[in-house]
Amino acid sequence: MTASYDADNIFAKILLGDIPCHKVFEDENAIVFMDVMPQSVGHTLIVPKAESRNLLDADPSVLATVAPLLRRVAVAAKQAFGADGISVMQFNEAAGGQTVYHLHFHVIPRYEGVPLQAHGRGMEDHGVLAANAEKLRAALGATE
Ligand code: AMP
Repeated sequence: MTASYDADNIFAKILLGDIPCHKVFEDENAIVFMDVMPQSVGHTLIVPKAESRNLLDADPSVLATVAPLLRRVAVAAKQAFGADGISVMQFNEAAGGQTVYHLHFHVIPRYEGVPLQAHGRGMEDHGVLAANAEKLRAALGATE
């Protein structure tokens, strides 16, 4: 049985504005911000606002709103960070690699011949994250 949603998670706190993030974009459905422990330059998270633990309990209507945004962010990230490709990742439950239990998608710029850094390790400098958020925001043509 899948565990139920627990609002005591860090992304719920970011969504409430209780914890800061390097925000790139926000609309009524989702928030987009930089991953603080990037696996690659420009690693970005897309977090639907609706409460769900992960993909396993997600409402299909929420996924339908996220998919076009995923594509938009992937296209913008490839441009903003001069990437050769993009990996989109999403983890479910601890055994699936999940560490934060609010549904989210990783958009990770990839560079030819450069392996990914370890998942969830090594905090990036906040100045670098702020600059990357700005670059991606510009590419998205979004305003905060
Ligand atoms: P996962 O749940 O395994 O899909 O990954 C959670 C991701 O959230 C990891 O890549 C972390 O680096 C990232 N992360 C954890 N806390 C924060 C935070 N406060 N702001 C931005 N990213 C975070």
